[in-house]
Amino acid sequence: MLVAELKPTEEILGYLRPGERVFILSCNGCVASVGAGGEKAIADLRAVFSQNGHAVTGSLLAPFACNKALVGLRLLREEPALSQAHVLFVAACGVGVQAVAQVVDKAVYPATNTVTYGAFQGLWPGEERCQRCGQCLLAYTGGICPLTTCAKGLLHGPCGGSHEGECEVEKGRPCGWQKIYDRLSKIGRLDLLHQCRTPHDRKAHLEVPGTRRRSTLWDLERLED
Ligand code: SF4
Ligand code: SF4
Repeated sequence: MLVAELKPTEEILGYLRPGERVFILSCNGCVASVGAGGEKAIADLRAVFSQNGHAVTGSLLAPFACNKALVGLRLLREEPALSQAHVLFVAACGVGVQAVAQVVDKAVYPATNTVTYGAFQGLWPGEERCQRCGQCLLAYTGGICPLTTCAKGLLHGPCGGSHEGECEVEKGRPCGWQKIYDRLSKIGRLDLLHQCRTPHDRKAHLEVPGTRRRSTLWDLERLED
């Protein structure tokens, strides 16, 4: 069973610059059943933002945030409210947040930490993967997970091996950090790369067997082909 939790209020507010307006998207799928999504997350987040000087321009309850096509369509209907927002907060698992970031041209921040998945990666198959690190840092990386997209799981920037957008680990594999850079550049938020972050607590990975920690589920799936 998927386990996720809303991030601490201080962390959520810490992502925002003074006066920034927000749009809230909450997944009504798996995370709703554990209280980190659904209507409850929208109500909780709306209260946090409203009480701390951040206007909420709108909200959307999405059946499954990991379904990019559906979320994209639903967000089209919300365009007037979405366009008024500086950033979009997503209450969903790590896969869902990444999927939403793929269909929105503005900063997308996770409102949740994903702790475990219970053996699946989103209900709609896509390229996004999450290693349920329990400390989601997608707010700093343009909604692209460095733990699963970078072959080495580097969290603070690229190694020296990226060449013309390709990862040194495997021919034809895009460099995850090039993708992150390109995404942040596209939404005009390269400043996020300069933000200081508290170190990632690797102990939060304990549920993942040690042999798998450095390889992505994407790689494991391909090895099994
Ligand atoms: S940073 Fe990556 S691994 Fe951690 S919760 Fe977010 S998507 Fe999952
Ligand atoms: S080349 Fe890019 S994706 Fe590959 S290990 Fe280095 S930073 Fe990560």
